[in-house]
Amino acid sequence: MTLPNTLNASTIAAQAGGVVDTPSGGVVPPLQPSTTFVRDEDYALVNPDNIYSRDNSDIVRIAEDVLARLEGAEEALLFPSGMAAIAALFRTLPNGATIVVQSGIYWGTTKWLRDFSARRQITLHEVDASDPEALQAACASHTPAIVFIETPSNPWLKTVDIAHAARCAHSAGGLLAVDSTAATPVLQRPLEHGADIVMHSATKAINGHSDVLAGVLATSAPAARIWTDIKADRHDAGAVIGPFEAWLLLRGMRTLPLRVERMCRTTQTIADYLSQHPKVADVYYPGLASHPGHAIAARQMQGGFGCLFSFLVKGGAREALAVVGKLKLFHRATSLGGVESLVEHRHTIEPHTGIPDSLIRVSVGIEDVNDLIADLAQALE
Ligand code: PLP
Repeated sequence: MTLPNTLNASTIAAQAGGVVDTPSGGVVPPLQPSTTFVRDEDYALVNPDNIYSRDNSDIVRIAEDVLARLEGAEEALLFPSGMAAIAALFRTLPNGATIVVQSGIYWGTTKWLRDFSARRQITLHEVDASDPEALQAACASHTPAIVFIETPSNPWLKTVDIAHAARCAHSAGGLLAVDSTAATPVLQRPLEHGADIVMHSATKAINGHSDVLAGVLATSAPAARIWTDIKADRHDAGAVIGPFEAWLLLRGMRTLPLRVERMCRTTQTIADYLSQHPKVADVYYPGLASHPGHAIAARQMQGGFGCLFSFLVKGGAREALAVVGKLKLFHRATSLGGVESLVEHRHTIEPHTGIPDSLIRVSVGIEDVNDLIADLAQALE
């Protein structure tokens, strides 16, 4: 029995879409690790849904169903990482295609797309998609097959008007794909703003416990050619998530709306605090009224602005690293969206990508807000 789609996200998530295991009656679905599934004496499948686990897994289907419902999508597909999901999307392109991709997004995406485009003779145009005219002009002059945006972006926290980006992509005959990782399906549902495909690194807040690598693509148009190609590629090329990861993901998602609500509240409080701090030069968070993308974010996100923000300390690398080094609660580690707060000095990791050496990127967890602020205060002293 599954829950009706008219229910709200926290109800769908808490009850994992309404799954009850038969015949045990358990309210938690079982973990079935089998890679292969038997046939009877007449060679009919005992369970017609399951042949071989490269594309048949009850737990993966349940997790995908919950993700599709949270996203307001018709279908969702899980992948073994966010990058595997992005790669599956772009591998549908023929050699020689043209794509428009937002500049200054997650470096792993940019790096992979540059390498992939060079190998496949794909013309890649990187454009600041938070500038509506620049995006419009790029789409009109290059007629891309896919426009790829990331909003809010990592680590700049730029916001892109999804509805505008969809109009630009569609009027050029292309499709819009949105990396919505920093927002989660709880805060932002890009398909409702005209996007064709939404993508998440489910490694982040969707799982939320820093113990699963996963990626997801979702669509409202499962009959579209690109979607059937993606599905065939996942099945045939085998970029599938394992049952244990899907089981953990489903468990993590039960508290997703609750975690996101708390993280957003805490992040807003910390961003407000840091924007008044004398040692801080700037704070990038779409929840701040001073943020250039605040109005767009307020329009297309509901319930908060996410757990990711960046700030610039006054000074340079020495000052930023001194702050990062003094923090006692925030772990110095990459990634975002977990229950534990993390800080990162991305300039150290990616010195040639234009990230300022005074920038500290923060992922806010679910710890007590006063403890986190006290930690930042002592580190900035
Ligand atoms: N997209 C964004 C915005 C990310 O931050 C990341 C990872 O940090 C990815 C995609 C890639 O996801 P994964 O690490 O799950 O492959």
